[in-house]
Amino acid sequence: MNKFVVLRDGYGETQLIVKEKDTETQSFLEVLPFESIIEVKGTVLSRPKGMENKNQKTGEIEVSVEKFRVVNKARDNLPFNIREFQKAKEPLRMQYRYLDLRFPIMQQNLRLRSKLLMKMREFLINNHFIDVETPTLFKATPGGAQEFIVPTQFPGQFYSLVQSPQQFKQMLMAGAIDRYFQIARCYRDEGVRSDRQPEFTQLDIELSFTNVDSVIKLIEDLLQYSWPQSFDPIPMRFQKMSYEEAMENYGSDKPDVRFDYKVKNCTDLFKINTKLASEENFGAYFISFPKEHANLSKQIKDSLQTSGNKYERAKLIQSKIVSTSEWLNKIGKLLTTQLASRFVEEYKIQDESVLFLAYGNKDEVLSLLGKVRLEYVNFLENLGMTIRKKGNHFLWVVDFPLFELSENSNKLQCVHHPFTAPHPDDMSDLETNPLKVRSLAYDLVMNGQEIGGGSIRIHDPALQKRILEKLNIETDSMQHILDMLGSGCPPHGGIALGLDRFLSVLLNTASIRDVIAFPKNFDGRDPLSGAPSSISEEEQRLYHIKSVLSPKKK
Ligand code: ASP
Repeated sequence: MNKFVVLRDGYGETQLIVKEKDTETQSFLEVLPFESIIEVKGTVLSRPKGMENKNQKTGEIEVSVEKFRVVNKARDNLPFNIREFQKAKEPLRMQYRYLDLRFPIMQQNLRLRSKLLMKMREFLINNHFIDVETPTLFKATPGGAQEFIVPTQFPGQFYSLVQSPQQFKQMLMAGAIDRYFQIARCYRDEGVRSDRQPEFTQLDIELSFTNVDSVIKLIEDLLQYSWPQSFDPIPMRFQKMSYEEAMENYGSDKPDVRFDYKVKNCTDLFKINTKLASEENFGAYFISFPKEHANLSKQIKDSLQTSGNKYERAKLIQSKIVSTSEWLNKIGKLLTTQLASRFVEEYKIQDESVLFLAYGNKDEVLSLLGKVRLEYVNFLENLGMTIRKKGNHFLWVVDFPLFELSENSNKLQCVHHPFTAPHPDDMSDLETNPLKVRSLAYDLVMNGQEIGGGSIRIHDPALQKRILEKLNIETDSMQHILDMLGSGCPPHGGIALGLDRFLSVLLNTASIRDVIAFPKNFDGRDPLSGAPSSISEEEQRLYHIKSVLSPKKK
């Protein structure tokens, strides 16, 4: 009998046929482990009529083997086979990532990543941008994300791995490199999530003599140019929305606008109830889904309640309205019957709709409903309903606040980073009402995920100093930036696109790990080598970290 072998590489598969009379190769194949590297010479033939494989790109041909050589035998019993139908669990695939990379999907993702990055580079170089590498060993930046610390041979002195090349790219502007870009590695010692890694890659851009609209247009043109042809085209210009509008209508600063259901403000009505009105920053909002999208099973109700309970200062009420009178009963405890019927009338609440209402601290209420909105729609889509519009959707969110209050200490902290310029129209509020000041920052949102962000920067050293002081950042530690701004620095601004996240959204992967060749695992560890790992006592002495406590066992 003839024997068939599937030959696979990074480009696809081809069927080999070893004829019955070639007993030597046939018996050799019998004991040859899967995944061995072979060299074959033969003749390409059309497969016999009816034997074509429509699911294979090369399904119409096969190669009749004439010469066969084993170049490098794989060992027996590799940890898993490269078969879609019996795919190993992620931890094992990550531990043997070089095997996992052989799956066609990983091949496709990494090859598309490479092409896209090439197009982005091409676009920027054609537009007179200069690719500059900046250091990753740097000084700890006050405020912002937790950083990785690198011990040195200088006692008690450490480097920090950069969160981003932010300070360097601004220094490049002062250095007359007026259009900079870099595909830059960034490090943040934050928890790993499906959309976050401790080390990640950004397309980092900065330019002099620019403004918000120019940066926005530049990125739209860049994405247009590098957009893969195999995907539906994207519009030349993207939708824009203010931060306030995004929060008020979607309860999120990265709203998923691929579906319409919006959050609605019913604070005024609730405020007629004097007891509630007296609370500071009180807000009442709701979101309703009509009959055709009303499915409040116990499972989703419990899950939403668990999400809702995480908010201390906002309360969630969820209800399937069998009849409006039932709803009146339910909120009758909060509102007078008269106000409850006004609610039903004013907001045209329909029988048999599903309604989520939250009240309490306005910011928490909005954030809670923003989460409920997404979680409920995900649930409906998992049941097979189509709620979101198909295709990729981009949105700019602009006019972010410059400051926010930190959760635990109630101190001012920056929403973007301390180098972001305040909105010129709001300068008069800087001392008296800093929380009201908007910034010249912008975020790019794709399908409800933040894939980039940036801002116009402060170029006046006096203003930069004032902002650092407001943020309680020691100006001494930022003297190099103040000196740089005072050295004749052009006005400038920029942006960074999170390439891993962008690719993951574009390719609709379950996690950003699927678009990174060697990602960290769920605990932020390297699954291949097991790093981070301990070092010898001698090394610890060398780096002056001898007295550290041994790490807690998990
Ligand atoms: N450096 C910023 C970040 O990494 C982006 C920027 O402002 O350009 O988020």
